[in-house]
Amino acid sequence: MGLNIEENKKLVEEVLEAYPKKAKKDREKHFQINTEEAQSCGTCALKSNIKSRPGVMTPRGCSYAGSKGVVWGPIKDMVHISHGPIGCGQYSWGTRRNYANGTLGIDNFTAMQITSDFQETDIVFGGDKKLEVIMREITEMFPLAKGISVQSECPVGLIGDDIEAVSKKMAKELEMPIVPVRCEGFRGVSQSLGHHIANDAIRDFVLGKAELAETGPYDVNIIGDYNIGGDAWASRILLEEMGLRVIAQWSGDGTLNELEIAHKAKLNLIHCHRSMNYMVEHMEKAYDIPWMEYNFFGPSKTYESLRAIAARFDDTIQENCEKMIARHKPSMDAIINKYRPRLESKKVLLMIGGLRSRHTIGAYEDLGMDIVASGYEFAHKDDYEKTFPMMKEGTIIMDDPTAYELEELAQKLNVDLVGSGVKEKYVYHKMGVPFRQMHSWDYSGPYHGFDGFKVFAKDMDMTVNSPVWNLISKKEKAHKEGAGV
Ligand code: SF4
Repeated sequence: MGLNIEENKKLVEEVLEAYPKKAKKDREKHFQINTEEAQSCGTCALKSNIKSRPGVMTPRGCSYAGSKGVVWGPIKDMVHISHGPIGCGQYSWGTRRNYANGTLGIDNFTAMQITSDFQETDIVFGGDKKLEVIMREITEMFPLAKGISVQSECPVGLIGDDIEAVSKKMAKELEMPIVPVRCEGFRGVSQSLGHHIANDAIRDFVLGKAELAETGPYDVNIIGDYNIGGDAWASRILLEEMGLRVIAQWSGDGTLNELEIAHKAKLNLIHCHRSMNYMVEHMEKAYDIPWMEYNFFGPSKTYESLRAIAARFDDTIQENCEKMIARHKPSMDAIINKYRPRLESKKVLLMIGGLRSRHTIGAYEDLGMDIVASGYEFAHKDDYEKTFPMMKEGTIIMDDPTAYELEELAQKLNVDLVGSGVKEKYVYHKMGVPFRQMHSWDYSGPYHGFDGFKVFAKDMDMTVNSPVWNLISKKEKAHKEGAGV
């Protein structure tokens, strides 16, 4: 389906018309309609990775969310201290579905809230002494914890605490790695700087600190897969079926040791480029490990990625890869034959974080669905450079879109499905628009790999074709009549 470039341009203009002059001028820079020129320009006009406007209901989170929530939190055998007042750790407690094997509270601490719970006295007199006490308590209460990370919340950097000195002292006393992370939420403009800070902390305090007993020619790392709903397991299984050996998963179901020995791999396979590109580039420079991006969403992208990965190895791996694809293809074709007729030409609007807004497109397209608009919360220019060529001409591409902009666009485009986060979900339900959470997989998943596509296709069909949408008033009607959307 071709999208109308001029119509969509007009539509975006109409949406932005509601803003005061200055806000409109600012928000205009965050929208672009995909054209042939935009696909090849390399440096597109769209502005990204800059401050959100105050008071517009941005979908963004903070640096702490990017470090503790995304990168460090999934490392299962370390205790991650949410250092500061109670809120940040409480709200991020167990909400991101980074699955991990192990026994919670014994050798797996992912879905726990460990916090220094700052009181006024800690703000006035500093929290360093308290932090020392907490670290000692952690080693007593959780003797199987292999290390500790200190995830700074806003006040820590504002009151002049020296968590680096505390970590150094206590690492010696407790004889374990203790990693101070300066991911206070006021740093940067979104989760994105938190990723970078977290990556640097891995580089400075953990990577290369242990050796791997045996190395082999097929050793690889999975980088930037957080195992949401078991995604990394559904990916790993394919790499191993092909004959590769995954020595580290960063960081879904990952361990401290996997962070320490990753420098021994022959190749870094990076799924989420946004959150971990800093590490693969560092490992390339410091350890001469090449890296490549891959995409395990939907069979077309998975076949393409598996072949590209196999091409980095010998004939044995390449033959294994072809045999494996031949084995899985009939079941993938059966899924497409079953669901495509039910989803063909359905219009989708996506707004996710820093990767999936482009990475999931192939999976939707395998089902015949059309992405009519896609946006990121915190992507950078290089992400948009990859996004434009993947999208059809006329697609609306948006950066840090506000709640108002998304709601207006979804209605004006009359979409059949919105894929975004939990903050958005219920608004669209009330508008009568089918919605899938594309962060948490709506408590389903995995969506990666061949196993994942089966779940993805079923979930999209279940949502788009649910009879429930016939029971509530049509969204256009509600909108036209201004009937409380
Ligand atoms: S902005 Fe500050 S207070 Fe808010 S979640 Fe992030 S670290 Fe916590």
